[in-house]
Amino acid sequence: MRTIKDIGEFGLIELIRKRLRHTKGVIKGIGDDSAVISQFPGKLQLLTTDTLVENIDFKMKEASPEQVGRKLLSVNLSDIAAMGGVPKYSLLTLGLPAKTSMSWLNRFLKGFLSLSARYKVKLIGGDLSNSGTLWTSLVLIGMIERKNCVYRCGARPGDDIFVTGSLGGSILGKHFDFKPRLNEAREIIKRFHPTSMIDISDGLIQDLRHIMEESAVGADVFASAIPISDAARKLSRIDKRTALMHAMTDGEDFELIFTAKSSSVKSIPKKIAGIRISRIGTIHNNNRELSLFDSEEKKKKFLLSKSGYKHF
Ligand code: ADP
Ligand code: MG
Repeated sequence: MRTIKDIGEFGLIELIRKRLRHTKGVIKGIGDDSAVISQFPGKLQLLTTDTLVENIDFKMKEASPEQVGRKLLSVNLSDIAAMGGVPKYSLLTLGLPAKTSMSWLNRFLKGFLSLSARYKVKLIGGDLSNSGTLWTSLVLIGMIERKNCVYRCGARPGDDIFVTGSLGGSILGKHFDFKPRLNEAREIIKRFHPTSMIDISDGLIQDLRHIMEESAVGADVFASAIPISDAARKLSRIDKRTALMHAMTDGEDFELIFTAKSSSVKSIPKKIAGIRISRIGTIHNNNRELSLFDSEEKKKKFLLSKSGYKHF
């Protein structure tokens, strides 16, 4: 019997995507960090959703209820950031075992609502269900000026590839307490005029591949230019995988990868809104091929396997 494990997460998304037809007013359906619809002149509406499931995305013993509430909002904020947008409204769904303590629920709401207030996101509805395992899902609605919206599909040969912050080892803590790059994304749009953008949820290489797929381009990445986090180095000492490998493949960093025309960034700022910006590679027209070199001089080529976090 064929199961969803056989076709995998991305195969499953493709299967659904193939069944859909183009709809007027839908600027971007499946295939980006948020869906984009056109409703007001000059403005676009962004819609995104993400789910956290107990024992898959978090463990009760390891994550405080406040952390789960904050993460649910933050992962969605990160998808709005990846388009360059401003978050506005949310719909919250809770699947709760009847035995869930009121204390857990109140603390979850405290985490979720206090972070919502900080980002000026208004909860406007949702749904509830009894469930065997605890899970929670959020729909987040944002806005963006039409001219500023950045998709995964705009990368062009000759563009440079950039990444914010430093990468790897998020499992040591950052995956629960990260700052979605909303302000940075707005600043990046002003300073870089990016041709494409995505947030890192599955891992640098995997998410760069999403840009390559949607833009039908290839990429050269320079290993020595990849910003490696302290957490990646720490994890590398524990599990003996290299820190570089962690920086390239660990999921849930929630930093941004973006591409920009070399000519549109005459002097590359080292920081944007206080966050480090690194130029890690270039886009080429060798369709969907990703090569990893030691440095821009391309003296040594590394082998790359298809890696990054995937469900199923
Ligand atoms: P992200 O990691 O940025 O949240 P995902 O990898 O979850 O993105 O999803 C990739 C694309 O597939 C998105 O455009 C998303 O809306 C779409 N997608 C994911 N799951 C489904 C589904 N069950 N039905 C329709 N579209 C889906
Ligand atoms: Mg995303």
